[in-house]
Amino acid sequence: MPLRLTHVGPGVHRLSSLYTNWYLLEAGGRLTVLDAGLPRDWREFHSALSRLGYSPADIDAVLITHHHRDHAGNAERLRSSGARVLAHHADAPYLRGEKHLSDRGVVRYLWRPWYAWYILGYVAKGITRTPPLAQLDEFDDGEVVDVAGSPRVIHAPGHTAGSCALFLEGGSLLFTGDALVTLDVARGPRGRQGPQVVRGPHTADAELAVQSLEALVGTNARTVLPGHGEPWTDGISSAVEKARRS
Ligand SMILES: [Zn+2]
Ligand SMILES: [Zn+2]
Repeated sequence: MPLRLTHVGPGVHRLSSLYTNWYLLEAGGRLTVLDAGLPRDWREFHSALSRLGYSPADIDAVLITHHHRDHAGNAERLRSSGARVLAHHADAPYLRGEKHLSDRGVVRYLWRPWYAWYILGYVAKGITRTPPLAQLDEFDDGEVVDVAGSPRVIHAPGHTAGSCALFLEGGSLLFTGDALVTLDVARGPRGRQGPQVVRGPHTADAELAVQSLEALVGTNARTVLPGHGEPWTDGISSAVEKARRS
């Protein structure tokens, strides 16, 4: 499946590969990348950048919403081409390769053919080859990160302990990572669409994820741009209302 580039707002682009979204922010000729896709997206990412008139050297920073490998695939590569990489401190040890997630939950799910198929797709995209980060900076809840676009960090733990959303006040855009998604592919043969928290084997604490939705409502964002699924343009409050009932 090719990497798709979609324009989602002034200076904001969505990159979609398989079932994972990552995003590109342009400000003053510099770029910030929110999440880092899958390792085998690299070549197409490079050509998507050139279509926009940029190269990897124009990327100042990569902000990672959480440590899962489908969100960090190209982070080390972008770091070695000059970008700073940042994530919440609770997820940093995983991204640095100091801690490892148990695959037990995933293995227990694999007997479902549709789930095995979905995992195979990610393996083909290089998910198991996501390299650890040799250097990683940390951000904290409430921080406005001093990078192109100036996103504000909203800590929303549950999916992982360090899961964060990133808020662009100017455009009223909220990048929710996996704290709130509009597609969960682990929820049946066709996945489950609509605003929801991620459940199943990839979430550490779904109840905490539901509690963390309140922090997202506080942004009052108009557009929600999740790590999986289509954008939600009807405001964060209605997305959270649906996610609480999911
Ligand atoms: Zn995740
Ligand atoms: Zn994810």
